[in-house]
Amino acid sequence: MKQEKMRQALSAAKHRCDEMSKKLTQKRMQILEVLLEGSRPMSAYELTDAYNDVAEHPIKAMSVYRILDFLVSVQLVHHLRSANKFMACNLTHGSHIHQLSFFLICTCCQRVEETEASQNIVDALRQHIDNTQFSLMNSQFELTGLCRQCQQKRTEGTNDSIRCSRLAPDTTNESS
Ligand SMILES: [Zn+2]
Ligand SMILES: [Zn+2]
Repeated sequence: MKQEKMRQALSAAKHRCDEMSKKLTQKRMQILEVLLEGSRPMSAYELTDAYNDVAEHPIKAMSVYRILDFLVSVQLVHHLRSANKFMACNLTHGSHIHQLSFFLICTCCQRVEETEASQNIVDALRQHIDNTQFSLMNSQFELTGLCRQCQQKRTEGTNDSIRCSRLAPDTTNESS
């Protein structure tokens, strides 16, 4: 992530915490920074290692878990339950809290794109779920597939595509 973009993201994060009367301590900010820096979601242990690689004072995984709990609670970080990994929110603009998020997870390169559902989808889904009298605890959708780059690699038949083909359903017409 470019320095300027990182500064903006961290300042938006601070703003979010201020508005919620929560404290974005130095450590919390540093953990968020490591997540923003990485292009893929990380497990708490991967995050601990990445942090300790650059930090002056090492941190324990236990503390990272606590910090992640906090960051998830203020929606600066999302917990992808299907993979048990964490990613920084890409939709942090000021105090905006999203209601319904779709996470498009590429099974080949593990990159994740976060998109927000439009209001009418949110309303329709809420109505539908209300009708079933089911009480929703979280509204996060994790969908798996192939990102655009991986689809491209696949049609070009590069080595990566062979690795991908084991993980994702085949959508091309190649004969096997
Ligand atoms: Zn988000
Ligand atoms: Zn991909």
